[in-house]
Amino acid sequence: MKKVFCVGELLIDFVAEKQGSDLSKANEFTKKAGGAPANVACAVAKLGGKGVFVGSVGQDPFGGFLLNTLKKEGVDISLAQVCDTFTTLAFVSLAANGERDFVFSRGADKELTYDPNVRKAFQGSLLHLGAATALLGGSLEKAYGKYLFDGLMKDMFISFDPNFRIDLWKGNQQQFIKKCMPFIEKSHLCKFSLEEAQLLSGKNDLDEACDFFHEMGTKIITVTLGEKGTLLSVKDFRKIVPSKKIKPIDTTGAGDAFIGCLLYQIANLDNFDQALKDHQLLSEMVETANKAGAITTTNYGAIPALPNKSQLEAL
Ligand code: ATP
Repeated sequence: MKKVFCVGELLIDFVAEKQGSDLSKANEFTKKAGGAPANVACAVAKLGGKGVFVGSVGQDPFGGFLLNTLKKEGVDISLAQVCDTFTTLAFVSLAANGERDFVFSRGADKELTYDPNVRKAFQGSLLHLGAATALLGGSLEKAYGKYLFDGLMKDMFISFDPNFRIDLWKGNQQQFIKKCMPFIEKSHLCKFSLEEAQLLSGKNDLDEACDFFHEMGTKIITVTLGEKGTLLSVKDFRKIVPSKKIKPIDTTGAGDAFIGCLLYQIANLDNFDQALKDHQLLSEMVETANKAGAITTTNYGAIPALPNKSQLEAL
């Protein structure tokens, strides 16, 4: 089984306890481990795969808590970096009008440095670039570019999730789109939400959006559509793979569970091209990944809600 290297942020989400008011009025917060690439590494590990997290936290109690959380879930943290800057923090509250109130204090995640020695470990494996913060600058952004364009990476399977967060890119969306393009061009697999697919392609129609991404170079496109399912598209095949019918209580982390489960399955294939040519196999893999997403919505939080293999098989 190949390793799945997930590069990007690991941070503390402080979630306001009493939802319905903005952050100025919130008094109590619950500390939670957050960061999409870290969730994906956990999703892979919980299913029995080899999820490896590559990212940076501060040398402080929060950094320790985060790395411990990943370790407990079976994630390989040997390539995680601990730096002098404080661990990245996000404060979140849902105001009465349903709007998210968000304060982001960016620290250690941007400090991830490119380690040329790691390149060798990457060879022949899967690389998932799915950080919401990676394109915001810092040495993390430089590392992303280098991991993507380094000649040694040619025999890797590269997966990209743009993880667009409006709170982080307000008024700067054109820059976000421009920065994503090289990743869409170079990745074998892209995972978009509906909003991301439309934003990045500039097309409202999903068929036109997929044609646009394929023309750019992406081989496998998945557009997650919540309870409706996932649009799967390769150049000569396209379909919506329906979601499992369940009663959702919290959709946090469903997208990360989906892509983690898909990567877990790709990591188990003998060769990457197999997935591209066999449409039946690819549809079944997406169906299984949809199940992982659905299960995650039946519990609170991201990491605690990710399914293990027996939960996945039971659905
Ligand atoms: P995130 O907000 O975590 O980035 P996302 O928008 O990328 O998530 P979603 O579309 O919410 O992802 O969910 C990913 C997958 O999980 C979906 O494609 C679907 O298969 C499953 N899923 C999500 N919500 C539901 C639901 N209400 N019922 C059934 N399945 C769901």
